[in-house]
This record gives sequence, structure tokens and C-alpha cells, in this order.
Amino acid sequence: METKSTRAKTDESKTYLSVLENLIKENYNSATFPNVSFPRDDWAKLSEKGLMLSMIQKEFGGRYNHEELCDIIETIAKYNLPLAMYTMIVTALFMRNVAKYGSEELKQEVLTKFSSEPLVGGFGLTEPSCGSNMARMKTTFEEKEDGYVLRGEKHWQAFSGTADWWVIAAKNSKNAKDFGYFVVKRCEGWSLVEKYDALGLKAIDYGRSKIDAFVPKYRRLNVTYEGLTAAVDMLCGSRLSMCAMASGFISRVYAETKERTKTRNMGNGVLFDVGYVKYKLKLLTANKTITKALFVYLKYKTDFRAVLLDHFFEAQAIKVLATDKMLESALNYQQLCGGEGYRRDSPSNNAAYALLDSRVYTIFDGTNDLLSQQLAEFCVKESKDGDVVKFLSEFEKTKNGMIQINFDLSVLNNNDTQEERVMNGQIISRIFGLQCLEEALEATEKHFEYGDFRNAVLFLNADIKKTIAETEILKNNCLACM
Ligand SMILES: Cc1cc2nc3c(=O)[nH]c(=O)nc-3n(C[C@H](O)[C@H](O)[C@H](O)COP(=O)(O)OP(=O)(O)OC[C@H]3O[C@@H](n4cnc5c(N)ncnc54)[C@H](O)[C@@H]3O)c2cc1C
Repeated sequence: METKSTRAKTDESKTYLSVLENLIKENYNSATFPNVSFPRDDWAKLSEKGLMLSMIQKEFGGRYNHEELCDIIETIAKYNLPLAMYTMIVTALFMRNVAKYGSEELKQEVLTKFSSEPLVGGFGLTEPSCGSNMARMKTTFEEKEDGYVLRGEKHWQAFSGTADWWVIAAKNSKNAKDFGYFVVKRCEGWSLVEKYDALGLKAIDYGRSKIDAFVPKYRRLNVTYEGLTAAVDMLCGSRLSMCAMASGFISRVYAETKERTKTRNMGNGVLFDVGYVKYKLKLLTANKTITKALFVYLKYKTDFRAVLLDHFFEAQAIKVLATDKMLESALNYQQLCGGEGYRRDSPSNNAAYALLDSRVYTIFDGTNDLLSQQLAEFCVKESKDGDVVKFLSEFEKTKNGMIQINFDLSVLNNNDTQEERVMNGQIISRIFGLQCLEEALEATEKHFEYGDFRNAVLFLNADIKKTIAETEILKNNCLACM
């Protein structure tokens, strides 16, 4: 029940958010703000307004508010997707893990600094030699009497050359099954050895880095899980946050595409009058509705401050569905802008950057193909007998989504091959999307109209039918692929 103090807290959060929104809208709109490494002076201006406080506990100067962080990321993504990504990494990937797993001494040292200085923190997991298979990482830690020696190489980290602090994953040099997570200052032994020229997300710098550091004992995060389970929890935070970015980003893409089609002359009228263009706008509307529904789930049914392992299923489903829809939306935006959409800094649209910035979302933070496979494997395991359809029809997180499908889904029970599992995972992510749509429709707060709900349901059903049709292709033996 809402009390006086929760209402005051909500009001305070709303005011804070609207101040932040105005600041971003006026000064950091990606349509006008330079597409370069985000200047630290500007990060300082945003930090002064408390941008980083929602993942810092109150005793260290923060606000520690999950819903607020969800709103911040969604709001920023509406105006500047790379800046939303920037903010998400520092808060949900770096600070969340320090706040959640750090000792008092570590939190005192790091979080108090982040609450008052415009610092940047990164998350170092991926390595040049191991790709998606994290168990093969080569960065090691060696325990000494007074601390840990860390050695290895990482690549593709956001802020590779500029982060002040890092959370780094490493493997025990004496036990390949034991992983540890350490908080390291850049000056303690993180050095950039090669700069990468990324295609998009220019606000963030990337590269390959060497680690040769010594950290005191209290800088090891207190995780008690075995193997890479803690990394899974840490990644669930960023994967869940993808729908906040998707919801903000797609709402902008939709608005700009609509504006463009209404102003672009075509024959005696405008582009918007063309039937197929209207259909494409329906698709963008569906993507906006779907990602909003995922966002409502994130905001009210999960909590960045808690352990997120129980949300493993949703984290994978959200990452896959939200980012597939981002990329699909950006491609359609660009298509509808015609040649002008292929121009950087076109005066009539932002489609080129929308596409370049969103392209990588289906690749990073666990490639969508792998996450889809994991979704199917999760369901096979949970079903006990391999009857995935029955499992999904009874599972709390999908049973209402299943009601929105009125065709045969038995393909979901075929999970013998890796490719079947990837494709089934794609379908399962859509079923979760249907469930979120249903839940958001029934929420007290209105998030979209009933017509938008029906439209989104139809598009997700179409996605599922298309994937089912594609599984037919798996049965065909094609020599070219052997
Ligand atoms: C812009 C950017 C930012 C990043 N930020 C960070 C960061 O801050 N911190 C960090 O630690 N890492 C970061 N990464 C690394 C990122 O998480 C990895 O690139 C990603 O997980 C994929 O790993 P990989 O590049 O080694 O691809 P690979 O593992 O080599 O995979 C390549 C491709 O193979 C296919 N594939 C792989 N596995 C499967 C499967 N099981 N089923 C079907 N197909 C499959 C997919 O198409 C996949 O995209 C970033 C990467 C980029 C590009």
C-alpha cells in the first residue's frame, strides 16, 4: 500500500527525472550532440544532477532506487542511445556489483567516490581468445598473503581506455573451475594496448587491454556461487536493462519515422499515404508496444538491487526480444528514409546513427543466438520430460503468453540439435513478450491502448510463425553448408 513516505519518495523521483529529462533533451540529443567519445566535463554535469546515485546505497551518498534507474535509462535512450548505454554500464554493470557484492571497506572506498565525483566504471569479462565461451578465459588471479595478483588480457570493454575503475573477472591460476571478481583502479595495472574503431556507439571507447595488477584482499567481491554463476547474475542486470534502452530508443525511432513519412512528398501526397508505409509504421508501433511491455516487467517485477539469478529466463528473453526489435526498427527507419537515411548527419533524419548505434545490441552482452539456445535449454531442463509446450503452458512467466497463440507449437519439443534450440529460443522469447503484453495491458497504470496491444500480439505471432516455417529448412540437406 502507498504510504506518505513512499509517495514523497515517488514525487521526489519524478521531479528528479523530469529535471534530468530536460537536461538531456536540451543538451545531449544525439541529433545535434557530436558523435564522439562522451566528454568527461559533460559526464560531470550529469553526475552533479545525480545521474549515478540510483545504484549507490544511501549510507554512501546514493538513492538506491531500482525503478528510478529503469526510468533514467529509458528516458536517456529516447534522446541519446549511446549515452543510455554509457549510463547503464556505469550503474547497472559496475556500481550494482560493487554495491551488491562489495565488502563495507570496498563500498566505502568506491561508492562514496562515485557519489561525488564524475567517475566511470567498466566491466571486464570478454577476452580475445575465448569469445562467448567464458569458461575458457585466460585472465588469472593468484592469491597472495595480502591480496591478489591479476594477469591477462581483455577486449571490447566499454571505456577500455578511459574507465577509472573496473570489475574484472578472472580464473584461479591453480583451479580452472574457480572464478573471482575483483575491483581494480585503472592506474593499478589496466592498460590499453590497442584502440578499436567501433562502427557505432561512438560515445564509448573500445579496445584491447592488458591487466597486470595487484589488489588488496578487500577488493575481491564476495560471491559464494561456484563457477561462472556470479557472472551470470551480473550479466542478468545488463541484459534486463536492454528493454529500458529499447523502449526509449524505439519510441524515438517511431516518432521520427512518422514525422519523416508525413513530411516527405510523394506524388500528390506524402509518403505516409502509401499503404505499405502505413504497414511499416504498424510494425514500428508494435515494437514500441512490445518493448514498453518488457520495460513494465523490468520496472515492477525485477529489482537490480537483488540477486537476479531467479530472473535468468526473463533476462535472456528480454535481451533477445528487445534487441531484435531495436535492430528491426532501425532498419525500417532507414529504409523509409530512402537515400537520405544513408547519410550521416542528414538534416532530415537520424536513421544512419540509429542503425549504427543499435546494430551491435544483438551481438554484445551475450550474442542473441547463444542466449536463444540457453532459453530453449532452460525450458527443456525445467520441463523434466522434454515436453516444452506443456511446460510453457504451465510456467508462471509464459502461461498467459501461450494463450495468445492459437496454432501448433509442437516444434518447441524438438530440441535434439543445436540449431533447433536456437530457433526454439527465438520463439520462446516471443512467448515471453506476449506474456508481458498481457500483463502490461492489465496493469492499473495505462501503458498503451487495446488496439496497440492487438497489433503487437499479431506481430509477435507472425515472428513465431516465420521461425516455425524456417525450422522446415533444417530438414533439407544442402551440400553448400557441409
Ligand atoms: C560494442 C561492444 C561492446 C562490448 N562491451 C563489452 C563490455 O563492456 N565488457 C565485456 O566484457 N565485453 C564487452 N563486449 C564483448 C561482447 O560481449 C562479445 O563480443 C559478445 O559476447 C560475443 O562474443 P564474441 O565477440 O567473442 O563472439 P563469438 O563468440 O566469436 O561469436 C560470434 C558469432 O557467432 C555466432 N554464435 C556464437 N555462439 C553461438 C551459438 N551458441 N549459437 C548460434 N550462433 C552462435 C553468433 O552469430 C555470434 O554473434 C562488447 C562487444 C562489443 C562489440
